[in-house]
Amino acid sequence: MTNTPLDDPNILRRSNFLLPKGTIYMDGNSLGPSSLASNKATQDVLNNQWEQDLIKSWNVHSWIDLPKKVGSKIAPILGAAPDQVIACDSISVNLFKLLSAGLKINDERKIIVSEQKNFPTDLYIAQGLSELLGKDKCELKQVEKHEIEDALNDEVAILMLTHVDFRTGEMLPMERITKLAHQHGVLVLWDLAHSAGAVPLELDRWNVDFAVGCGYKYLNGGPGSPAFMYVSKRHLRHLKQPLTGWMGHASPFSFEPEYSPAEGIEKALCGTPPILSFAALDGALNAFEGLDMMQVRAQSNSLKLHFLATMTEILQTNPDLKLVTPEDEERQGSQLSFSHPHSYAIAQALIDKQIIVDFRAPDILRLGFTPLYLSHAEVDKAAKTLRNIVQDGSYLNAKYQTRNKVT
Ligand SMILES: *Cc1c(COP(=O)(O)O)cnc(C)c1O
Repeated sequence: MTNTPLDDPNILRRSNFLLPKGTIYMDGNSLGPSSLASNKATQDVLNNQWEQDLIKSWNVHSWIDLPKKVGSKIAPILGAAPDQVIACDSISVNLFKLLSAGLKINDERKIIVSEQKNFPTDLYIAQGLSELLGKDKCELKQVEKHEIEDALNDEVAILMLTHVDFRTGEMLPMERITKLAHQHGVLVLWDLAHSAGAVPLELDRWNVDFAVGCGYKYLNGGPGSPAFMYVSKRHLRHLKQPLTGWMGHASPFSFEPEYSPAEGIEKALCGTPPILSFAALDGALNAFEGLDMMQVRAQSNSLKLHFLATMTEILQTNPDLKLVTPEDEERQGSQLSFSHPHSYAIAQALIDKQIIVDFRAPDILRLGFTPLYLSHAEVDKAAKTLRNIVQDGSYLNAKYQTRNKVT
């Protein structure tokens, strides 16, 4: 029998989060929960700022500065000095800006290398850009994970990778791959959707060129939360992004007829920021202030380890259930993924017992380990419940088979 390890009181701050009673939330890798701070910040915009101060709020409540302010709150979580991170738009849109900008910097080259199993939007955006610029200016080359290093050569302009695989939870060695790419003059763009707020990052120290990430996953910014982007200081001055909207102008309120980009990271902006969503993300980020990401990582590893220890026997005896996340902790993000022919139904059966997990096609059951609000006792209960469901076949019940539009 394994004992349930103790929680680290410096990391677990469950009372800050607004989770329904009795719910074990293991889907923070997909949509982080609401929090008191997020709720309060949003209410403040709604009930005080917008209602009372109306349009003055752009100045008196500094709405106009929110993309930059929120970006600087995210910067330490990424291991980035301030002024290189800004919050705006979605990952998809930010990828479009950065891929275009990267091709301009590396303008003798046209190839974007990515991984075939990358999150589809990353591939779709590169395909759309290639369509727009023409195949002689931009070409996407998709390779397998084990082919990434071999695909790097002097013809490649940009390597675009997701750090933690959304299906398997596998984490790539960012520092090593970035270094290898640079040896061939290749720029590197990392998608941190499943990394920011989950694992320690050192973008500056690892010499990363560009990165994008999500506000609504591990950063708990709420549904549709603004994404963020990182541009290394060494590229900022020359960076030219194609979505030249007025918010990225050097002087938006001069209303000049010619576009001229802002000096700093503000040039990455396009249109008016969604202030309600920004307020929610701004509040949510308070949870990360002064937080040591190494300690978060240690707790996340401890939660995963306990979960796996509880699952050891069934993984050995039930050939249908397989761990698809690498066993080596160094190669894991903050999620564990299992494959099973009935993963969808198993996820539904767990949700029915208030253990919220999710499913990814074709057969992956995903569980997020988020030590800010998830305890070892909850993880213990989740593992035992999953074990029972797989063993007793209760997932075969007809009510667990119907698929929703969003999985
Ligand atoms: C969730 C996720 C996205 C989401 O992109 P949006 O454009 O913000 O909707 C992108 N990339 C990865 C790897 C993701 O997991």
